Amino acid sequence: MSASPPVRTRVDRVTSASRPFIGEPLIDRCHADRDDPLANAARWADPGALLLSVGAHDEVAVLPGATPEDTVRLAPTPTSGERDDQRQLLIGVVQGRPWFITRDTPRAAAGQQIAPLRSLRLGPVAREIVWAGLAFLHWAESQPMCPSCHGTTRLTSGGPTRVCTACGREVFPRTDPAVISAVLDRQDRIALGRQPSWAPGRVSVLAGFVEAGEAAEHALVREVAEETGLRVTAARYLSSQPWPFPRSLMLGYVARAEGTISDGDHELDEARFYSRDQVRDLVAGGGLILPTPMSIARSMVDGWLDNRLPSPESGTDLSVPLSL
Ligand SMILES: [Zn+2]
Repeated sequence: MSASPPVRTRVDRVTSASRPFIGEPLIDRCHADRDDPLANAARWADPGALLLSVGAHDEVAVLPGATPEDTVRLAPTPTSGERDDQRQLLIGVVQGRPWFITRDTPRAAAGQQIAPLRSLRLGPVAREIVWAGLAFLHWAESQPMCPSCHGTTRLTSGGPTRVCTACGREVFPRTDPAVISAVLDRQDRIALGRQPSWAPGRVSVLAGFVEAGEAAEHALVREVAEETGLRVTAARYLSSQPWPFPRSLMLGYVARAEGTISDGDHELDEARFYSRDQVRDLVAGGGLILPTPMSIARSMVDGWLDNRLPSPESGTDLSVPLSL
């Protein structure tokens, strides 16, 4: 199978748009005074302040790019009226402008669209706004009770902290760590798999949650074995990415694995190794659908396609036991 030149160009543009994995923080989370009601009132009243309305299915208003491969821009509205500090949550200050988020049906002005956050192709600043804002929002909606006395809690004025109105306990958001890895064989091919619930052709790199009391590297070894039957021998950490659907932190690795992928008795459907040419050709022909552009999984596949991933052997050797 061979790709036609125009489509191959499209794949390459996607690749170049997604580097590097992570850079300096782009949001000021206002930690010095984010629970100061006066400071937050001033932020809400700032003429540049913005409110991002997120619908019941995590959809938002966006300004689309000129082509499907361009990044889209979030389309928040100016803040107005009195702030409800239990519903309109402070995200932080971004390039001098305070950003807030709320659960409310978004409305598209002229030239805008309503789109699901999970599938958007966003730039780095917008991604950080979404990661933080959506994580705060999901947590605020899902953890209303005090874990000590089951009393009612209230968000502090800036969040993301709740205070129990009965016993005074402070409650903070929790994050679920997960490992995600570009798993490579000795020929530098990548393992991609499809979960049974996914559409035909949709694939991703291997991933799974870290269990309680488990090292991230051990979770990686275990998950890869469970999903494919492969044995991970080395792994190098790449970067992390929040994935607030609803509250994960993806710890990204590139790993080397030995063995062959066994069919049938593992968690994934259709897991197999692909060469770079195979991925490019299958994507171009519509036979393979790569992960959403906002995901670290996509960054990993793009990095591998571009030969930008470090060698797994430059990281942790997982093939030998520690000496006692
Ligand atoms: Zn309590």
